[in-house]
Amino acid sequence: MRDTALLQLALSLTPPWTVSRSDFDPEAHRLDIEIDFAPGSRFVCPTCGAANCPAYDTERMTWRHLNFFQHQAYLNARVPRVRCDKCGVKTVNVPWARPDSGFTLLFEALVMTMVSAMPVKAVARIVGEHDTRLWRVIHHYVDEARARTASGVTRLAIDETAARRGQDYVTLFVDIDQARVVFATEGNDAATIAAFADDLAAHGGDPDAISQVCIDMSPAFIKGIAENLPNAAITFDKFHAVKIINDAVDQVRRTEQKEQSLLRGTRYLWLRNPQTLSDRQRTTLGGLPTRHLKTARAYQIRLAFQDLYDQPSVQAGASYLKKWYFWATHSRIEPVIAAARTVKRHWDGILQWFDSKIANGLIEGINSLIQAAKAKARGYRSTRNLKAIIYLLAGKLDMRLPA
Ligand SMILES: [Zn+2]
Repeated sequence: MRDTALLQLALSLTPPWTVSRSDFDPEAHRLDIEIDFAPGSRFVCPTCGAANCPAYDTERMTWRHLNFFQHQAYLNARVPRVRCDKCGVKTVNVPWARPDSGFTLLFEALVMTMVSAMPVKAVARIVGEHDTRLWRVIHHYVDEARARTASGVTRLAIDETAARRGQDYVTLFVDIDQARVVFATEGNDAATIAAFADDLAAHGGDPDAISQVCIDMSPAFIKGIAENLPNAAITFDKFHAVKIINDAVDQVRRTEQKEQSLLRGTRYLWLRNPQTLSDRQRTTLGGLPTRHLKTARAYQIRLAFQDLYDQPSVQAGASYLKKWYFWATHSRIEPVIAAARTVKRHWDGILQWFDSKIANGLIEGINSLIQAAKAKARGYRSTRNLKAIIYLLAGKLDMRLPA
């Protein structure tokens, strides 16, 4: 078998395309395969699909292909432009590459498989391409897969993640039922919710179909939901609610420690739950004269708030929360009273948990996945790149790679 026939078979070329020549340069570690078509061949118009269009002129193009053993391989062809009666002069689509890509489909499939397992910069180094060229490929396949994925989301968790060092944020929108990121966007203000609603509508989803949303107590998110997701009932994330009381406990301890030196070194005893303490920590806690300490009272109020979530029904929960609120606001401990008032302002959304039973724990997991990838990549060139990686890692995309 001649080498051109072998390469033609290996590339699965079909008429009118044939391999006309190959040049191997062992010193440059490079194989160049020349693809051509027979004179008089007819082509399909890339715009309207009309068959039998004659070639008008040609343009020479080159595509990086899968390596030939340890050598880089390139396909080269003169690509015809056709004159279509309807559309005018158009460059035809070749079967081995996307329009305007400098890579073959198989090379792109390899790149996409590699970037879901390692940082893009590392892939760029291995394949010997600049990473900005690879990012273009990534954006194409991610956008295409997102466009294909019809979104039937009804229950949503929203939270922010750090985009770069400093104050930049990306807000994540997670479909709770499918456990996947359906949308990620710059910022953490009310406009992010509007951007989500627009994107959802653009992908065949319905903002009115969102019935349950879990968020922290961010006023921007509350406002954005009211304006853009009119049928969504808000549940305030329970871990976030508990954290508000816990922060109050910490504040009380910090102030009290200035007079009560025995509180020094006890910070984490008060922040954790009794069942997660070590034996030694439990002994330390038991040895403190807790009856005289404000910190201990604040701590009991925090534990009592957590018990809200063990109530059997929303009615029981509401009456429990009322009693808790009375106790907390009569504690004469300023940070605890302030935390209780915050609870009061978010009353319905805290009790909504009894209906929805949703929380943002899912996002925490996704978040650590993203932050780990970010650390490994030592950052991305842009937030757009970060978003593409978020979709790749946590979007459960319907990625149809060329095979
Ligand atoms: Zn046409």
